[in-house]
Amino acid sequence: MYDLIIVGAGPAGITAAVYAARKRMQLLVISKDIGGQAAWSGDIENYTGYQFISGPELAAKFEEHMRQYNIALKENESVNGIRKTQNVITVTTEKGSYECRSLIIASGKRTRELNVPGEKEYKNKGLTYCATCDGPLFADKDVAVIGGGNSALDAALQLVNIASKVYMVNNVSVLGGDAIMREKLEVNLKVTIFNDSRVKAILGDKMVKALRINTAQGEKELAVQGVFVEVGLIPNSEFAKDLDKNKLGEIRINPQNETNIPGTNSKMLKKKIIKIGNKGIEAIAIKLLTKTFVLLRGSKGYIMCGYLNLKVAQKFQDAAAKIVGVASIEDALKAQIHSCTPQAKKIGIKPGQPVKDALRIIA
Ligand SMILES: Cc1cc2nc3c(=O)[nH]c(=O)nc-3n(C[C@H](O)[C@H](O)[C@H](O)COP(=O)(O)OP(=O)(O)OC[C@H]3O[C@@H](n4cnc5c(N)ncnc54)[C@H](O)[C@@H]3O)c2cc1C
Repeated sequence: MYDLIIVGAGPAGITAAVYAARKRMQLLVISKDIGGQAAWSGDIENYTGYQFISGPELAAKFEEHMRQYNIALKENESVNGIRKTQNVITVTTEKGSYECRSLIIASGKRTRELNVPGEKEYKNKGLTYCATCDGPLFADKDVAVIGGGNSALDAALQLVNIASKVYMVNNVSVLGGDAIMREKLEVNLKVTIFNDSRVKAILGDKMVKALRINTAQGEKELAVQGVFVEVGLIPNSEFAKDLDKNKLGEIRINPQNETNIPGTNSKMLKKKIIKIGNKGIEAIAIKLLTKTFVLLRGSKGYIMCGYLNLKVAQKFQDAAAKIVGVASIEDALKAQIHSCTPQAKKIGIKPGQPVKDALRIIA
C-alpha cells in the first residue's frame, strides 16, 4: 500500500512527486509518458530562471530532478480506473492495480481532434498533432497549421524554421494567443494566415497532398504535405468516473484541491489522544499517512517526536524536562516546539518553531 499515488508525469505530476519524496512518502508515479505536454513544446520563454529553453530540454530537467529521489515509477502505463473503498484508493491500469491512501491526479490534457474526413486516414501519414516531435520531417515542404491559439502559434513558429511555406487556418476573425508570438508570425514572409476559415477535409493518396478549407471568399484547396492540428486540448479525466466534473470534463475541486471524494487529497492528518509507554503518558498522535508523529508536552515546552517511539521520546525528556502530557491541541497551537527528534527534523520541524507550523508541515 502506497502513501500516495500520482497519476501523470507532466510538470504537475513531477513537481508533486518531488515534494512528496522530500516528505519521505512511500509513493508511486504512474504515467503514460514523462514530461507531458512540456515535452511537445517548442521554445519556452516564460519559465522563470530560463530566458529560453526548449520543451524537451525542460522536460528532461524535470525528469532528472524526479529521478534523483529514487521514486517508484510505472512508465508507459495508463490508468483506466480509480475506486475508493473505506480508506483505500485502488488505481487500476491495463497492467495491474495499486493501492494507496492518497491520490493526486495530474493527468493533464491531450490534443483535440478535428473530426473531418481524411483525419483518421492520414494520421501519421502527413497529419500530426505535435510540431516538436514531427516538424523536422517536413523540411522544405509546404505545411498547414490548424488553429489560432498559443499551441498553433508555437507550432507555426517552429515550422517557419523548417518548412518552405506555412499556412495557418484559424476559424475566428483574428489570431489569439500571445501578442509576442503573433507579431513574429504576422511579419514572416513564409506565413499565410487564413482567418475565419474552417477545414473541410484532408486529401491525399498514401500521404497528405492537400487541405480543403472554407474561407470567407469560398472554398480553397491548399497543396500541402503536412497538416499540424492545434485546435485545443481536452482533459485526460475519463478514468475518474466517480469524480465530479464540469461540462468540459475537468475535475471539480475545492480551494483545498479536494475532489468530491472525501479524503482523496488533504485529509491526511488524523489526530487522536493516545496513551504511550507504561506510565500511560498522554500525547497527541498525529498520523501522516503511515507515519505517526507525537506531540508531547514537557515542563519546558512541546516535544515533537517522529514515529511512535517512546524510547526516542524519553531521550528528549531531558531537553524538555519531564513529559507532562498534552491536554489539547488548541493549547499546543499557541506554543512553540521546544525540542524535536531527528525524524521530526528530517521533515523540516525545528526547535523554536510554532507548533502550528510544525503541524502544517506534517499535514
Ligand atoms: C505545443 C505546446 C507548447 C506549450 N508551450 C508552453 C510555454 O511556452 N509556456 C508554458 O508555460 N506552457 C506551455 N505549454 C503548456 C504546458 O506544457 C502545460 O500547461 C503543462 O505541460 C501542463 O502540465 P500537467 O502536468 O498539468 O499536464 P500534462 O503536461 O498534460 O501531463 C499529463 C501527464 O499525465 C499522463 N497521463 C494522462 N492520462 C493518463 C492516464 N490515464 N494514465 C497515466 N498517465 C496519464 C500524460 O502521459 C502526461 O505525462 C505548451 C503546451 C503545448 C502543447
